[in-house]
Amino acid sequence: MRRDVSSHRLLRVAALVTALAPLPQVARADSSGDLVAIVPTDEMSDTTRDTIQRELDASIARLFEEGRLAPEAATAPSAPGVLLDWPLRPRPGLDWFAVHGISAHVDQDPAATTIQDYNCGTRTYDGHHGTDIFLWPFSWNLVDDDAVAVVAAADGVLIGKSDGNFDRNCASNSNTWNAAFVRHADGSVAWYGHMKNGSVTARAVGDPIVTGEQLGIVASSGSSTGPHLHFELHDAAGAILDPFTGPCNRLNPDSWWALQRAYTEPTVNKLMTSFAVPQLNNCPAPGVTNEAFVFRPGDTVWFSRFYHDQVNTGPSVATIFRPDRSVFRTWSSTIPDPYYAASWGWNQYTIGAAEPLGKWQFEVQYQGRTYDHDFWLVGPGPWLLRNASVTSIAPLSRPLAAIFVGAGATTLDLGGRDGVPRPGEGDDDDAYVPDFAAGQLDPDATVVGDASRPLVFYQVSGAATSLTLVKSAGALTISY
Ligand SMILES: [Zn+2]
Repeated sequence: MRRDVSSHRLLRVAALVTALAPLPQVARADSSGDLVAIVPTDEMSDTTRDTIQRELDASIARLFEEGRLAPEAATAPSAPGVLLDWPLRPRPGLDWFAVHGISAHVDQDPAATTIQDYNCGTRTYDGHHGTDIFLWPFSWNLVDDDAVAVVAAADGVLIGKSDGNFDRNCASNSNTWNAAFVRHADGSVAWYGHMKNGSVTARAVGDPIVTGEQLGIVASSGSSTGPHLHFELHDAAGAILDPFTGPCNRLNPDSWWALQRAYTEPTVNKLMTSFAVPQLNNCPAPGVTNEAFVFRPGDTVWFSRFYHDQVNTGPSVATIFRPDRSVFRTWSSTIPDPYYAASWGWNQYTIGAAEPLGKWQFEVQYQGRTYDHDFWLVGPGPWLLRNASVTSIAPLSRPLAAIFVGAGATTLDLGGRDGVPRPGEGDDDDAYVPDFAAGQLDPDATVVGDASRPLVFYQVSGAATSLTLVKSAGALTISY
């Protein structure tokens, strides 16, 4: 019996909820559950802010005395003397389409009761002095995996840092954050806040910082309701700037970005296949993805789409292709409201027992861009394994990841690669066979295992430095 279920769930932006009519949750009649998450916000008291500023001023004065800071060039205070690169960098190999959304810009409205962002919208909250860039989806999983680094947006000198503070905060309070502060050649200063405990750069105050250099890991230290980077820009005199140029930016006329992102950038962050409904748990619990890339005929598969800046100016069209590119399912979805900072939906389909084995594709066309996610339908075999760790390897039906061992290959040496497939890495099966070259069968040509062409599926927890799989006469030995 086939049972198709779909759902669409939304994240609410807390600030928008207060500023606008509450965002309705989209839920079709056949959906289940009503999990709602909140995108992060932060607050900082004036006292805390003044303390930080005094410390930075003292640091700058000291570094000048020591000759480690050069006087800034004579530019107008609010004119960009440097251009900023994007301050987040996903870990290499994390092949999600995007890992972030923006939950709040600088509040350009000086009034205490009203808000306005640089684009005359309300994507901010009262008195907010920076840009909040949040992780999405599975933000805590990304934090735990050190998956998204905060990197220097421009060259400069480290003029302050703090570390050692609790980093799993879910509320606005008086917690102290882990942060780094970089002064640029024009005297402007960038604040990078809420980073992971122990992750802040080992460089000393006074050391040079180069663009793209890692400053820490995105987390939720300080007064913060979830994992995000608070990126804040000051001019040489300490006044707040908004790096985004727009019709309602009263602080500075020019963009400070080398490449300013669109106010709304409708994007699929991630497509996912899973063997059960993904669970987005309440802060600070990591989500349970239930992600899988390999299924058997007869399995029910959940197809999830995660967006940031989803808009209602066109549908999101999803299609599931069989290996021969014939269409297994296709469906279209829209949202009733103009915009959501972060949203997601899933559809659940059972793949019939007679469906063809091989590499399938989950594709979404959205806002003129095509997003693809590969998954595999395989038959049962002696080498179909799924395990939580090397020490507990056991046959299971739904492996997370796949390693394709060609015919005649009895040994696979991962050569120091971490055996843990990260979310999304299953799109690139070849990445798992780095040492296969001579005589290797193309995993894409045929991925169904049999006696002459076994498949090995496994997951290893922990940071394996070397892993060897040895196959012989019906037994599999793993050592590392
Ligand atoms: Zn913020």
